[in-house]
Amino acid sequence: MIQTGLHHVTAFSGPALRNLDFHTRVLGLRLVKKTVNFDDPGTYHLYYGDAAGRPGTILTFFPIERAAPGRVGVGETQETAFRIPRASIGWWTHRLIEKGVAHEPLIQVFGEPTLRFRDPDGMMLALVGVEEAGDEVWAASEVPAEHAIRGLHGVTLLLDKAEPTAAILTEVLGLRESGREGNQTRFAGSAALGGLVTLRAVGGFLPGRPGAGSVHHIAFRAADDAAQAAMGEALAARGLHVTEQRDRQYFRSIYFREPGGVLFEIATDAPGFAVDEPIEALGSDLKLPAGLEPHRAEIEAVLPKVA
Ligand code: ZN
Repeated sequence: MIQTGLHHVTAFSGPALRNLDFHTRVLGLRLVKKTVNFDDPGTYHLYYGDAAGRPGTILTFFPIERAAPGRVGVGETQETAFRIPRASIGWWTHRLIEKGVAHEPLIQVFGEPTLRFRDPDGMMLALVGVEEAGDEVWAASEVPAEHAIRGLHGVTLLLDKAEPTAAILTEVLGLRESGREGNQTRFAGSAALGGLVTLRAVGGFLPGRPGAGSVHHIAFRAADDAAQAAMGEALAARGLHVTEQRDRQYFRSIYFREPGGVLFEIATDAPGFAVDEPIEALGSDLKLPAGLEPHRAEIEAVLPKVA
C-alpha cells in the first residue's frame, strides 16, 4: 500500500548542543543524521528519528546559537506530536517532572491521552498514547524500549480558515478527513507513523513569527519521483507555485506554500539515511553532500562542537 502522511517536520532551535541533549537524552530519539543546512552550510541540520530513520519518525532542526525565540501564530505548525504506547503516559509524566520539563496536565484530544510539553526553545510538542503504537524502537537510549517514542503522531496547523488547506491534504497529498472536535478537523494518511494532520481554524489570530522553537516546514511523503511529480502537477494546476526538485541527499524534495501560509515539502521515501553511512552508525559523523565535501575544513571550523 502507498504510504501517505508526514515524512518529517523541520524546526528552528537555539544552541545545537542543548537541542541534541534534549531530543536524544530526555526524549530518547536517535540522532540519525548530523549534516549541515545545504542552503546555509555554516549551520547544522540535525535529524532525529527511530533506529532506522524511517519516514514518519523524523524531526529535524536548524540550530542557531543565538536565535531569538519565535512566536506561534496563524500560518504555522502549532504542535508536533509523537506516538507512545497508551500504557506509557504515566511513565512519561514522571519523566517530564523528573527532568524539569514544562508540561500541561494530561488531556484527551480526539479521544487520545495527550501530554503537551515544550522543548528548551519553547517548541510545542506532545506525547500521545495510542494502542498498537508499534514495536520498532531505538533501544540504545535512556528511555526503556517499552516506553520509547515510536515516531511522529502528527502535527496541528494553526490557520485562519481550514477549507483551502483541507483541499490540498485530501485532493493532492492522499489524506482523508477522519474527525472533528471543536474548531479542529483531523486528516489521516495511510501511514501509521506520522499519519495525522489536524487543522485548527482560529480566524483573526496573530500571524506567527519565525524563530527558535518554531516549525519551518512540514514534509509529506511521496512513494517515488513519479508520484512526487504528479503531486507537483496537481498543485501547479491549482495555481500554486512549486519549486524544482532539490536533492536533499536522503530524499528528493519539492516545496510550496499551501493556501493557509504553511510551507509544505513533498519528500521521496528513497534513498533514506543509510545512503552515506551504515544503519548501525547513523548520526556518528558529520556528513556532507559531495558538493560541500571540498569545504569540510571551513565548515567544521565554524560549526559549534556538539560531541
Ligand atoms: Zn524538509
